[in-house]
Amino acid sequence: MQTAINKFKNVCVSDHPILQHNLATLRNKNSSPEAFRNALGRIFQIVFFEATKNIVLEDKQISTPVADTVCKVYSKDSTIIFSPILRAGLSLADEAVKIIPQAVVSHLGMYRDEKTLEPVWYYNKSYDIQFNPKTSTIFLLDPMLATGNTLIAAIKNYLSLNVEQKNIHVVSIISSPQGIAKLEKEFPDVKIYTASIDKELNANGYIIPGLGDAGDRIYNTK
Ligand code: URA
Repeated sequence: MQTAINKFKNVCVSDHPILQHNLATLRNKNSSPEAFRNALGRIFQIVFFEATKNIVLEDKQISTPVADTVCKVYSKDSTIIFSPILRAGLSLADEAVKIIPQAVVSHLGMYRDEKTLEPVWYYNKSYDIQFNPKTSTIFLLDPMLATGNTLIAAIKNYLSLNVEQKNIHVVSIISSPQGIAKLEKEFPDVKIYTASIDKELNANGYIIPGLGDAGDRIYNTK
């Protein structure tokens, strides 16, 4: 079996048929960059709808052409923050802001040291944005949850800014069991939303079967 059973407490794996079909396109090494990006966007939407199902709403008085009524809208008192991890997370943020244009986008730049597989910071917008950590929900966007090291650094960053674990959500497309286990052990209240838990990681930190390097496939750089 090339994917693993979800035995994790805090992980939600979406398995909609549209997602499954598009996952085949992502995994296929012969898919064009355009087909890859389109499939990624479709899958992201499905995972994202699940990840955002508890965002806070408030009542709003609305007049339809024929009557007054009360509707639910995003709460003004709570901030939604998308935090894409550069560079592959950018394409997920582009999709996310189409769905929730009111969100704040706080980019995090880290690259993975090829030898140690540890993240190296080069950009952090979260220091510049104004937000109340008690009333904000953070969505960390990274298509690949592989070793988990980058996401661990991103979570620690928001914890250091006084955001609680329960208000941090990881949205990934493909995850490894090792990466999830590491995150779950260190941050038991952070929720993870993904489209697949794959079989394993290889020695270079690539997810197997995975889809290769997500950034290269999105941006056609290899
Ligand atoms: N990042 C990727 O893009 N692919 C992997 O398999 C692991 C990390």
